[in-house]
Amino acid sequence: MGEYDFIIAGAGMAGLSLAYRLPESAKVLLIDRDDAARLERTWCFWEASAGPFEAAIHHRWNDIFVHGNGLSERYKIAPYTYKMLRGRDFYAFMQRWLEGQPQITVQRGNVQRLEGGPDGATAWVDGAAFRAPWIFNSALRPAQTETGFHSLLQHFKGWVIRSPSAIFDATAATFMDFRTAQQATGTRFVYVMPFDAHTALVEYTVFSPALLTDLEYDAGLREYIAAQLGLEEFEILEVESGVIPMTDAPFPRFHAPHVLNIGIAGGRAKASTGYTFQRSQRQAEQIAKSLLETGRPDAAHAGFNRHDWMDSVYLNVLLKGREAGSRFFTDLFKRNDAVQVLKFLDEGSNPLEDLRLMTTVNIPVFTAAALEVIGSQVRQALSKG
Ligand SMILES: Cc1cc2nc3c(=O)[nH]c(=O)nc-3n(C[C@H](O)[C@H](O)[C@H](O)COP(=O)(O)OP(=O)(O)OC[C@H]3O[C@@H](n4cnc5c(N)ncnc54)[C@H](O)[C@@H]3O)c2cc1C
Repeated sequence: MGEYDFIIAGAGMAGLSLAYRLPESAKVLLIDRDDAARLERTWCFWEASAGPFEAAIHHRWNDIFVHGNGLSERYKIAPYTYKMLRGRDFYAFMQRWLEGQPQITVQRGNVQRLEGGPDGATAWVDGAAFRAPWIFNSALRPAQTETGFHSLLQHFKGWVIRSPSAIFDATAATFMDFRTAQQATGTRFVYVMPFDAHTALVEYTVFSPALLTDLEYDAGLREYIAAQLGLEEFEILEVESGVIPMTDAPFPRFHAPHVLNIGIAGGRAKASTGYTFQRSQRQAEQIAKSLLETGRPDAAHAGFNRHDWMDSVYLNVLLKGREAGSRFFTDLFKRNDAVQVLKFLDEGSNPLEDLRLMTTVNIPVFTAAALEVIGSQVRQALSKG
């Protein structure tokens, strides 16, 4: 073995976030094929204090708007701040940091296979083998073949637009706006992230089993921009699009022995919202802590998680058409303190807070979904013996 302590396969958001937290003395090989598309994305998330990439944050908002189903409110979200980190700024920040880390080697290449054994793992990259005691994988996503779970896609297209007139308020982000035509096949909403009075990212988002055509996303964006922003004429400065899995199907913790999955490959996309950034940061912190305390990266036990369970119930509600997603989110904001809702969505709430929040949803609908989820989990447990 010898040359590397760790290999990180996939130097995207999760891989680089982990590299940033590994012990300074560790010899690390970072491998990525450098997809240009990774630059064309933005990460939005909320947190109550400064994060590790604070210097690269593009914009911060202290207030958010939520619109739809008779709700049109602006909320103060202190102690949280809603933040946007652009892909290109994150990679530039990491590039500068990597230049001062001689113990980290960056290798451009295509990861073909990751193999593990009892005392180490091998990454096959363009025909060459690289070995280390541990590999962290965000490059090869597991094929999800198990049946009996709830799976949807969050898919979206966004434009950074420039308005000729000063129409945006850069102090408030629109977290969710459901005032866009809802279809039987899924929940649709729009985010608006203004950077200044003239410029904003407007993102048309759908939770549904199948993607739309490019023309349909464009039509949704144009319709929203005309109807809600009152803009017929505008310039499109940038375009982003993406697909994030929303599923309660289990993501294996390990790709192979000594190959730990991280980021989306490690199931870090939250099933009910698609938010992945903060969950990946927490996973990176857990791995670093585990290494410090035990010398192994995998000490954290992935047992029952009530947030995952509540996400399953919510996915059941959506997939069975028991209630529109727009109704669920607007009811949460109407009936609870917005800060409490954000805490819940970021999995920071305690069981009592969750229970209080659950009493404010449509109880018959969620009880029926919860019973079905429990039934299917019992059947799965019995079938596995
Ligand atoms: C457009 C977009 C916007 C998003 N916005 C948000 C948001 O606002 N908030 C949020 O919380 N989440 C968001 N997400 C979800 C999630 O945070 C991102 O997808 C995030 O980039 C996932 O991190 P990752 O490290 O798992 O994957 P990636 O960041 O995609 O990294 C994977 C890396 O692996 C490399 N790779 C893949 N295959 C190979 C291979 N065979 N060999 C070598 N290298 C390989 C790729 O080049 C890439 O660099 C968004 C996703 C998209 C697509």
